Order: sequence, then structure tokens, then C-alpha cells
Amino acid sequence: MPRQCDICHDARAIVRRPKTAQSICKECFFHVFETEVHNTIVSSRLFQRGDRVGIGASGGKDSTVLAYVMKTLNERYNYGLDLYLLSVDEGIAGYRDDSLETVKRNKEQYELPLLIVSYEQLYGWSMDSIVQAVGRKNNCTFCGVFRRQALDRGALMLDLDHIVTGHNADDVAETILMNIFRGDISRLGRCTEIATTGDGYVVRSKPFKYAYEKEIVMYAYLRRLDYFSTECTYSPNAYRGYAREFLKSLERVRPSAILDIIHSGEAMHVAADVQLPTLDRCERCGYISSNKVCKACVLLEGLERGIPKLGVSRTNAKHIEDPTANRAVDLVHFETLRRDALELRRIRMENKQTTQPEPDASCQRSACSCACDNAADCS
Ligand code: SF4
Repeated sequence: MPRQCDICHDARAIVRRPKTAQSICKECFFHVFETEVHNTIVSSRLFQRGDRVGIGASGGKDSTVLAYVMKTLNERYNYGLDLYLLSVDEGIAGYRDDSLETVKRNKEQYELPLLIVSYEQLYGWSMDSIVQAVGRKNNCTFCGVFRRQALDRGALMLDLDHIVTGHNADDVAETILMNIFRGDISRLGRCTEIATTGDGYVVRSKPFKYAYEKEIVMYAYLRRLDYFSTECTYSPNAYRGYAREFLKSLERVRPSAILDIIHSGEAMHVAADVQLPTLDRCERCGYISSNKVCKACVLLEGLERGIPKLGVSRTNAKHIEDPTANRAVDLVHFETLRRDALELRRIRMENKQTTQPEPDASCQRSACSCACDNAADCS
């Protein structure tokens, strides 16, 4: 006899939740998954009404589910957010070009504006050309550093207040393990935070911090979302792959291992007498950095000077010597991007004031359908 849902006791159970071991029906699964993400958003006070929020969209399952859930929750709970899709094109033929086609379809399906920023356009180097120069050993170091900056640059181009990314509980637990294995205390502290200020201007957060990867896959499958599921061509050598395998083997024997690792990471605190790097601005591009020159500028200089290992290890980073290295592309300074963003905001506010509809004189608040400024307060 088919098993009944453990929650509604009515419909047939079709999902066994890895997180709680409950057997539940499709509708209850959608409800608990979305409600847990909503609870994470509310309890962490991630957004303010009116925030312009960019969804880091790669076309993969995590970011596609994130875009769908953010749009759903924004409408259901009236968060009052302006949502955007923000994608980074690393320039990986046969992988990112295909996944970006998925993002373009998501743009139509979810009716969200989309901005794509590319490594080629920002840095003058695609990942394919970087791999040709550096080989397949340290390619993910370049990709990770460049992506982080690319997202922050895209956020300023769109004048966003906030970027949400699809990092899930498995990703967070892997990162905690990797930082422990590497002894990277300062990153260990930061990686458990649900929200950080990336470049110092835009908040970054992970609404799926406590959502299991398996549940995200189930959600995407059961909702029949349009997503791309091929692995990056250059991923097999990524260090994260080993941490992932280790985590999966732990999860097999103890499914709560993922959340346990996250809670352990959250409970760890850096002793007061440990000296952590102090953050300043890169003297070349203005990005936030604990050194005079940020990692992206050092890596770029190494590429331009034909010594790609410059900046890959900490020792090599000290050998940076040419502050005016010829670049294929001049990185736009972050202060310039910031000024442009503020100007955009000023124009938007002016337009909003001139196009604001007159309040409806018959406004009853409890049954109001006008578009006046009080609409947010109407119940
Ligand atoms: Fe970039 Fe490495 Fe991820 Fe591929 S696996 S997208 S190269 S970080």
C-alpha cells in the first residue's frame, strides 16, 4: 500500500527528505522547502523593502531554483524587492555558453531583467585563454577570484544593494572543511556568515545556506524547472572536488553531517589575540583587499607578463613589481563604478518622483487598489 504523506496524511508520499527523513507528498515538499527558505530570510533579516537584489544566475540547478523561489517568496510575502538576474560569462566553450542560454530562457520565464558580464570584457582574458596559459592545475584560483570581482562589478553596473547566490548547505559545509584543512582562519570565520559585504558596497548572502543540495535537485525536478546540469570542463582538478567526496561519504553514514558541520563552523570563534588581515582598497582598481594590490590585479599582471604563477601562491605574490603592466583591458576603477551607480540612483529617484501617481482621494487603506506611496502600508 502506498505510504501517506507524514505532514498532510492525505496525499501519497513521493519524497523522502534527506534532512528530516520524513516521507512527504509533492505539495508539502514545495511548502516546507519554500517556507524554510523564507524563515532563513526573515530570521537573518537579509533584505529591506525596496532593495534592488541581483540573483547570481549560472543556469545551474541552485541558481535556477533560487531565482524561482526568490520570485515566488517576493510575491507571496510582499518583500517589496526589485529582482534582477546577474550572470558571469567566464568564457568556457561548451559549458558556460550553453548554460547562459538557459539563463536567457529563465529571464523570459521569470520575467526578470538580466545582465551578463564577461571575463573577456572585464579582464581581457577568457577562462579558455587562461587555461591555455596556466594549464589545468590552478585554473580555478583565477576563475574564483575573477568571478567574485565580476559579480561585484556587475552589481555596481546595476546599482544593486544586494546579491544573493545559490550556495547551499553542502557548499557551505565543504568550504568549512576546506578552510579547516588549509588552516585558513580568517576565511573560516567569514564562510559561515549568511551575509557579508563583498566589495564593501554591496551585501552578499546565501538564502540556501541551510538547504540540502539533494532537496534543491528534487525541487528543480518536481517543479520541472529549466536548468543546465553539465559539469564545468575544468572542474575535475578542483580541490573542492575532494572535499565534496569526503562530505558525501560522511552524509551517507550520517545525513545530519552537513548541518552539523555548519553549526560547528558557526560556533567556532577566532581568539581575540589572533591577528587577522586588515582590509583596505587595492591601489590599482579600488577593490577590497588585504594587500596593497588585490589578488585579481596580481593574477592579471602575471598573465600579462607571461608569469602566470605570480599571485597563485603567497610567496609569488611578493614578487609583484610592475604597477603599470600593459593590460589587454584596463580594469575600471571601483570608485568610477560606484560614482556611476550613485548617478543612476539619483536619476531613478528623480524619475520616480515625477511619475509618482497622485494618491487616490477615496483611499480606504483596507481595500485600496491605487498605486500611491502608501500602498506598502495598506493591509
Ligand atoms: Fe571556474 Fe573551476 Fe568552477 Fe570551472 S570548476 S567554473 S574553472 S571555478
